[in-house]
Amino acid sequence: MSFILSIIRNKLNKYWLVPSFLLLVEYGILTYSITKHQSLEETNTFITKNAIPSVVYCSNVIPQAIRYHLKINQLSKEILEEALQNPKTVERIKELFREDIQNRHSEINGIATLVKDGEHSYYINFYTIPTRNYKLAELLIRERGNKKNLVRIIKENEYYFKSVLADFGGTDETIYNMGMKIIERGEEVSNVVLSHFVDFFIEASDYRADKDIESSIKFYYKTQIQGKYIADFHAHIDGSPPSELDLHSSKFMREIVLSNKKEGFDLYDLIKGESTKIVYRDGRIVAD
Ligand SMILES: [Zn+2]
Repeated sequence: MSFILSIIRNKLNKYWLVPSFLLLVEYGILTYSITKHQSLEETNTFITKNAIPSVVYCSNVIPQAIRYHLKINQLSKEILEEALQNPKTVERIKELFREDIQNRHSEINGIATLVKDGEHSYYINFYTIPTRNYKLAELLIRERGNKKNLVRIIKENEYYFKSVLADFGGTDETIYNMGMKIIERGEEVSNVVLSHFVDFFIEASDYRADKDIESSIKFYYKTQIQGKYIADFHAHIDGSPPSELDLHSSKFMREIVLSNKKEGFDLYDLIKGESTKIVYRDGRIVAD
């Protein structure tokens, strides 16, 4: 009997050790670097709820992160430029900017992959993934008429909600706390304060792209990804260069920032806090 049990245990060990290890790494290291604003309790829920999708996610993201940190198999600037000259890449980037203009509640965000196009040519494909701020903004809009639900949602996301307001216009802790007190006491002005908070969040949300771990897990689980992972990306529809936060994020994962320009775009390739700019105008790459 114990012999049979040990065989079963061995088989289970073989199967479970790998995912357990991956989950441990995700829990301990990756979630911390990828989602700075997200609390570990929230992330923990995703793991228990979505164990198998989490494993799929980890088995994609962990090798990407390791390769990046060890500088193995990273796309060179030459191949990136070559792939940028491919009309398929340019068309996809234009499409992303169009999507970004329509999406009023977040910058477009996702991953970029290098896809073979015939024998010696490549193009870049961009996959979009919903952001954390987009999801929360959508939820707030949906519940706009329901004060009780709005207050519950804001309180459930208190830390994140506050940090978005603070980044955007200096609505600091004191203003937030005073506002919430007024809202909860149900004073006459409470509806005005509440709708001001919600409007402010939605406005701020359009200028940011906070990676959402739950959406990323779903994305890797459900998507047949074509090509080889290059980097994470997001778009600046207003044509601005990468922010300090973008440069900081690139210490953990390579980040491409697509900046919309009148006759083309700028592509910023952020690697370990350093930025390289490629300027694309009127159908070709030009000197900066
Ligand atoms: Zn940015």
